[in-house]
Amino acid sequence: MDTGLFIALLNPTIALALGAAFLVLWFYQRHRPYLAVLAASYSASAAGFLLQYFTLPIGMAPTKLLSNICFTFAACCLVGAVVARYGRRVPYVGIGVLAGGGLAAFCWFLFVQPDLTWRILSINFGFGGLSLLVAAELRAVRNNGPTEKILFVLSLLSGLNFIGRTLAVVIAHGAFTSYDGFYASSYWTTALLSHALLSLLIALSLFSAAALDVMKALKTETYTDPLSGLLNRRGFEERGILLLQHCATARFPVALVLADLDHFKALNDVHGHAAGDRVIADFAAKLRAGAGARGVAGRIGGEEFAVLLPLSDLAAARLFAEAIRTLYSAGGVDGLPPGTKVTASFGVAARTGDEGLEPLMRRADEALYKAKKNGRDSVRLSYERPETVFVPEAGSVG
Ligand code: GH3
Ligand code: MG
Ligand code: MG
Repeated sequence: MDTGLFIALLNPTIALALGAAFLVLWFYQRHRPYLAVLAASYSASAAGFLLQYFTLPIGMAPTKLLSNICFTFAACCLVGAVVARYGRRVPYVGIGVLAGGGLAAFCWFLFVQPDLTWRILSINFGFGGLSLLVAAELRAVRNNGPTEKILFVLSLLSGLNFIGRTLAVVIAHGAFTSYDGFYASSYWTTALLSHALLSLLIALSLFSAAALDVMKALKTETYTDPLSGLLNRRGFEERGILLLQHCATARFPVALVLADLDHFKALNDVHGHAAGDRVIADFAAKLRAGAGARGVAGRIGGEEFAVLLPLSDLAAARLFAEAIRTLYSAGGVDGLPPGTKVTASFGVAARTGDEGLEPLMRRADEALYKAKKNGRDSVRLSYERPETVFVPEAGSVG
């Protein structure tokens, strides 16, 4: 196979394969539109490359224009998708000015004042500007994670490639006057190879970002209870252990509140399981609102809940539990007959020393058991302290 043709087909093949891969990804993740935009971008770029080699019956100049419209569309989609993926507002005006400006200058030097060198410079400067626009947007998030950093560097390199390489080659080669020998020129060969490399690297980073998105969503799903929207037991334990470590490092007090709905089996029997579900969701909403952003709230069993409260001692956590208890027993739940009273019992324990989550939960559970035994609809505290071993200092009097 002749090398020229091989290099010529390299970019459309890579672009088509990447476009198809993004399309498949989007097919399975319809809620991530940036994947469809990436598929459109890579497909348009493949069309742009093909139109460089196969002149349409409409003529040479219109085919070149069509090819560059495809490239411009591809670049705009790529910029929009990357910026949107990282939660930044898509800079439509900037994109419009750079892409429209590059394309307008290209048209001017194609139809009004034909000049191949200026066409090359204008379209490349447009793309260089778009790459730097992405870099500017990603600057703010470049320290958030590895893909952010890699894409920030790649967009800078891409900007340098479009502007620096083009200028260097045009200066070294001299002005391009016609398409004779253009496709064998150092400009075109370096353009194709650098584009192939950069577009592959950018796509790989975006694939990693998409994979990370999926993993994050799966983790959230694994750790969330769908009925209450709170963490499930697994999620509560993981986040709870992290919170305890954080509080130990910062020397913050932390307390645990366990809650269990009273006579819930009877409530299900009388009002039905669906009504029971509504009560669980309603109680969970109150706990979540009470715990705020700093607390960690979870549904750790059927009608059992746990809330870890940082910066709270036993008295503060007791107030929290009492507030929820009175609020709950006083108010009705939507969907239950008016006047139906639902109550809950609470056990509270404050962490002492480096106490871990498990012993803390055991103590709060013992307190909750006392609340149940003493008539329910109440809050009980754990005053017990974990055993501490006294080690006499050397030289101290025994
Ligand atoms: P106590 O006051 O001693 O806690 O009595 P209880 O009836 O609340 O406790 P028990 O442990 O005997 O029963 C818990 C009930 O919670 C049994 C089960 O049907 C119900 N339950 C568990 N998970 C769910 C759920 O997701 N939805 C509904 N509606 N009910 C649930
Ligand atoms: Mg119960
Ligand atoms: Mg229970």
